[in-house]
Amino acid sequence: MSDHTDVSLLPEERVRILTKKGSSVEINDDMPPRRYFRSGMEMIRMANIYSDEGNIEHAFLLYNKYITLFIEKLPKHRDYKTTNIPEKKDTLKKLKDVAFPQAEILKKALLRRFEQEYSEYLVKKKSEDEALAQEQSKKRALDAERERVADMQRRQREQEQFSAFEEMIRRQELEKERQRVVQEFATPVPPSPDTPLIPGIQGPPLVSPTLPQSPGDNNHQYNRSPSTIGTPSMGPPTFDRSLKPGTLVSPGNNNTMMDALRQLSVPAELCRSFLRLAEANTSRAVETCGILCGKLTHPTQTAFLSSVDLHTHCSYQIMLPEAIAIVCSPKFNEIGYFRLTDRGTDEISTCKQKGFHPHSKDPPLFTHAAHITITSDTVSMMDLR
Ligand SMILES: [Zn+2]
Repeated sequence: MSDHTDVSLLPEERVRILTKKGSSVEINDDMPPRRYFRSGMEMIRMANIYSDEGNIEHAFLLYNKYITLFIEKLPKHRDYKTTNIPEKKDTLKKLKDVAFPQAEILKKALLRRFEQEYSEYLVKKKSEDEALAQEQSKKRALDAERERVADMQRRQREQEQFSAFEEMIRRQELEKERQRVVQEFATPVPPSPDTPLIPGIQGPPLVSPTLPQSPGDNNHQYNRSPSTIGTPSMGPPTFDRSLKPGTLVSPGNNNTMMDALRQLSVPAELCRSFLRLAEANTSRAVETCGILCGKLTHPTQTAFLSSVDLHTHCSYQIMLPEAIAIVCSPKFNEIGYFRLTDRGTDEISTCKQKGFHPHSKDPPLFTHAAHITITSDTVSMMDLR
C-alpha cells in the first residue's frame, strides 16, 4: 500500500494519500455530540502546535480530520439535530477562519516540500542508475575479457594439440623415409656361391628374395638388374647418378615435360637470408612459410614435403610449371628443392582433404627439382610481415 512518506511517489500523489488519511474519521452514535465538539477544540490546538513546530504533515492531517468531522461526519450523528451545543458557533468560526485556510496553506507547503524531496530523489536515483549501469558495463567488459582469455587458451590448446599431431605425422614421415632409404641402399649383397659365409660352411640359397621386380619392369629403383645378382665378379654396389631421386621417380614419358621447363637459378644466398628471417620461428620449432615459388622451413625435421606442403605448393606449380618448393631444415642442415610429379599434381589438385592426411606414395607425388641451378648470385630480401 502506498505511503505518503514514500519519496519516489509524485508530490500530488503523496498529498492525495495524506488527504485521504485525514478524511478517515469515524463517529459513534452512543458518544454525545458535545464530546466531539470538545475534542474538536483539542484538535485545533494540537494542529496549531504542530504547525508552529514545522510538523506540517501532522498539522495538515489534523486540520483535515477537523474539517471532515464537523462538515461531513458529525451532522449525520443520531442526536446532532436535537442536542443543544453551545460550542457549535465557535466551531463554525474555527472552520472558516482557521481549519480551511490552514489546510490550504499547509497543502501548498507540503507540495513544495514533496517536490523538493522528489527532485532530490530523482537526482539520487539518476546517480544510482548510472553507478549501476557503470557496474554492469564493467561486469560485461570483465565477462568479455574472461571469455576472450578463455577463447585464447582454448585456441592455444588446440594449436598445441595440432602441433603435437603435426610432429607425430612428421616423425612418421621421417621414419618411413629412413626405412625407404635403408631398404634402397642397404639391400645386402648376396654372397657369391664360391664364397661361403663362414669358411667351410655352405651359404644360403642363391635366389634373392628382396628383388620382386620382374626383369621387364623398367621403373624399378635398383641399379642392379636381376641378371647381375650373384655373379662372382660383383663388387660393392655402385649407383648410376642418372637414377638419383631427381629423375629416378619421373616416368619415362615425363621427360619431355621436364625438358620443356626453363632452367631456374636459385642463389644459395636465398636460403641463408630466408633462414635468418625465420630464425625467431625456428628457435621455437615453428614453421615459416615464405611465398617465392613456395619455400618452407621444417625446424625440427628433415627436408621433405608434408601433405600440407604438397597442397601449398600445388597451386603454384599449376600456375607456373617451373615453381619449386624449397624446404630448409636447419636442424639437419638440409635444403630440399622439390616439384610435384605429374602424378602429384593430378592427385593433389583433386584432393579435397585439409590438414595432415595421407596421400598415395607410389608412384611418388614429388621429386627433387632437376631444373634448378644453385648460383652464387646476390639476393636482396624484404620481410613483409
Ligand atoms: Zn591431399
